[in-house]
Amino acid sequence: MEKKNIAILGSTGSIGTQALDVAREFYDKFEISVLTASNNADLLIKQALEFNPKIVVIINEALYSNVKEALAHTTIEVMSGVEALVDAVELEEIDVVLNAIVGSAGLRPTVRAITCGKDIALANKETLVVSGELIMNLVKEHNVKMLPVDSEHSAIFQCLVGEPSPIEKIYLTASGGPFRGWTKDQLQHVGKAQALKHPNWSMGAKITIDSASLMNKGLEVIEAKWLFDLEINQIDVIVHPQSIIHSIVQFEDGSMKAQMGLPDMKLPIQYALTYPERYKNTFKRFDFIDYTNFSFEKPDLTTFRNLQLAYDALAEGGNRCCVLNAANEVAVAAFLEDKVSFLGMSSILEETLCHIKNTNNLSLDDYIAYDSESRIVAQDLINKIKHKN
Ligand code: NAD
Ligand code: MG
Repeated sequence: MEKKNIAILGSTGSIGTQALDVAREFYDKFEISVLTASNNADLLIKQALEFNPKIVVIINEALYSNVKEALAHTTIEVMSGVEALVDAVELEEIDVVLNAIVGSAGLRPTVRAITCGKDIALANKETLVVSGELIMNLVKEHNVKMLPVDSEHSAIFQCLVGEPSPIEKIYLTASGGPFRGWTKDQLQHVGKAQALKHPNWSMGAKITIDSASLMNKGLEVIEAKWLFDLEINQIDVIVHPQSIIHSIVQFEDGSMKAQMGLPDMKLPIQYALTYPERYKNTFKRFDFIDYTNFSFEKPDLTTFRNLQLAYDALAEGGNRCCVLNAANEVAVAAFLEDKVSFLGMSSILEETLCHIKNTNNLSLDDYIAYDSESRIVAQDLINKIKHKN
């Protein structure tokens, strides 16, 4: 069997490194063609020496010469900058582009990969949050596969295999994060150290904060809408603190299918890369005796306003989800620098949405322009808070 050629965008991150763990498990099945990183040159060089890709891209141009020098004795082509990242996905031999970049920076490489006819394994949910309709139209037009990596969406995707019947609704499960059950009062003074402690998953900083604020679940509601072509009232969120049921599909006869497994992203990454097949691996198996109790709760949308904001943005359409996402990226970065409080993040999102007028029928360039504008507005709002203090 010919090996599958994979480009891993964001190979030094949490998803990227776990994708390389999967590649190590199946060295005879996958060939790594492209590796890219933003700033972690040392890890990128190490990965390149191990996997010998055709191309590596280091986004930060100041680090180009480090990477170039370290790989000078190899045949690996070293490139730098955002345009190089977008161009790298065009490489002829690539079958699947695994987009494990964080944030809306993942949008343009996804679009380029789709238009070049590459299948997409999508971890970068922000791509679909910003411009899901446009992306899914491109997927249809270019007849490529959009394979979800996000565990909830992989679960839904797996439940739908072999099902020609329509979906009645889906339940996206949420762990509830480190502040599940907390009141607004208790959340007033939480800092990044507490927010970065996720009970079940070890992930990059941005998604970990998003999980604590339930923004992540909001982004996932939007992601699910576009991936599975659903109406908003067909998408429910249910808190399941054990994170073993990864999500549930309910069909029109009332039957429900759930996908379960240990909380380990290697599983959905592997499935996206091997679909429709399942390969035998050596990863740890679930044991019922370790989990004698599964529980479920309603999410608290009053305390964790971001989830409600995401539902509202999706209902309003136009540029709302794009603006929400960009403002959130800026707010999370500011929270990680102690420049905005945990609850203050939601206010930044609301105010940014108020400042920018909604418009419809947007092109890719329009979305990119709204993304930039929203970042400026959100940053301005944050600078003003700093001033007040
Ligand atoms: P991370 O911060 O650990 O890694 C991000 C990667 O993207 C790094 O390799 C970094 O170099 C690169 N990167 C960062 N900014 C970039 C930019 N502006 N341009 C190009 N590359 C850039 O993030 P992560 O936790 O691996 O998450 C990646 C994506 O996967 C996110 O969209 C996240 O929501 C999604 N996701 C992650 C998990 C998880 O368990 N980590 C689970 C589900 C979905
Ligand atoms: Mg998820």
